[in-house]
Amino acid sequence: MLQKNQIVELKITDLSYQAMGVGHYQGLTIFVNNALPGETVRAKLLKVKKKFAFARIEKILVESPDRVKVPLRQWLQTGLASLAHMTYDRQLEFKRQQVVNLLEKAHLEEQISVSQTLASPKPVRYRNKAQVPVRQVRGQLEIGFFRRHSHDLVPMEDFLTTAPGIDQILVKVRDILRQYQVPAYDELHNRGQVRYLDVRRSQATGEIMVILVCRQKNFPQLEAVVHRISKLPKVVSVVLNHNPDKTNVILGKHDYVLWGQQQITDKIGELKFKISPQSFFQINSLQTPRLYQLAIDKAELGPTDTVIDAYSGIGTIGLSVAKRVKCVLGVESVEPAVRDAQANAKLNGIDNAEYLCGKAEVVMPQWAAEGLQTDAIFVDPPRKGLTPEFIKAAVATDPAKIVYVSCNPATLVRDLQEFAELGYETDQIDPVDMFPQTPHVESVTVLERTEK
Ligand code: SAH
Repeated sequence: MLQKNQIVELKITDLSYQAMGVGHYQGLTIFVNNALPGETVRAKLLKVKKKFAFARIEKILVESPDRVKVPLRQWLQTGLASLAHMTYDRQLEFKRQQVVNLLEKAHLEEQISVSQTLASPKPVRYRNKAQVPVRQVRGQLEIGFFRRHSHDLVPMEDFLTTAPGIDQILVKVRDILRQYQVPAYDELHNRGQVRYLDVRRSQATGEIMVILVCRQKNFPQLEAVVHRISKLPKVVSVVLNHNPDKTNVILGKHDYVLWGQQQITDKIGELKFKISPQSFFQINSLQTPRLYQLAIDKAELGPTDTVIDAYSGIGTIGLSVAKRVKCVLGVESVEPAVRDAQANAKLNGIDNAEYLCGKAEVVMPQWAAEGLQTDAIFVDPPRKGLTPEFIKAAVATDPAKIVYVSCNPATLVRDLQEFAELGYETDQIDPVDMFPQTPHVESVTVLERTEK
């Protein structure tokens, strides 16, 4: 029987979907942090369960040719970038292989091919947003990232995945909080103030929004702190997000703009987009237009088409096609995002797009029941994917194409099986790397009606 702290020597044969090296030892599957397939490692067991164990590398005995030196030690410690020890080319292949493996499990690998993963124009410093925890470490307020599988903060100043400009602002805000002795959040006792810093930067204009996620709506130093942050270069908006709960969820429900603009404005292609604090916006500014282009080209739209933009966020996909179709109907569950989408239509002189607030799985069946007929449907759901109700209703509106933008290939493959039963099929999945250095897999799939 293996035990915690025991040292084992094993060969790594695989990489888990969370980018852990996988090996076997005495009938147990062992997940080893930061180990790569092809490597032989001496590993220390951190946790031993009945059928599997977690371990940490003590020494790499045989190194993989795919291994690269990680530019930032904290990348691997924290899991901020848990694929960063692999060459970028191999990361892209790893992502493709994730999709292939899932198709094989579903016995779909013969029908559906998976293209090469579309590389991100920038493999580092690609994020237009950083959301970093704030904690007290050895008596001092620090920003950083949590050590893997824990809530211990590893202090950091340079995140390397974020676009230039963001890291500097994070550090300056940290220094202001220190100077005014604002207490960092203490999650054990639900005390202290600042839980997270959330900084968003527009790639197009350089405008920066700073969101302080705080336990209380007000505290003695708040006014002075906001004033100081408002003087930082390029900051156009300072927001307090109120999150009083004992929870792992980062943002609370309510935002208070304490200084400056309600939104920042960014661009995708020719279109301008206003983004509110709670609204989703794709984080890889250079890759997003390429993701959308792929999705839109495959939809083969025309001027008589009725198009649905489901899980629409601030309307980025629907508004990008509005001018070449008859009309766009969007649905999104976060109210500020819906208001942004409506405002963004106006901002870009688009009058044939309508955005509704609601749950897509509820609104879609209503549209279907009202007899709505569509030509193309874009769906871009969160990780949990679509529901059977949504899928049935989408099919009932009889679209020629359904374009599925997915951030989780496991639920994508599940949903493709559901669609197939209702006569919509695909023969290709295109992975697009939106999150270099991490194991996240984004992809675009077009489903077409197979019989009529
Ligand atoms: N298509 C947009 C947003 C994609 S992210 C873009 O590319 O920017 C997914 C969006 O789905 C988020 O805005 C989220 O708020 C929204 N969402 C989550 N669950 C939903 C649901 N059940 N119904 C409608 N929208 C939902």
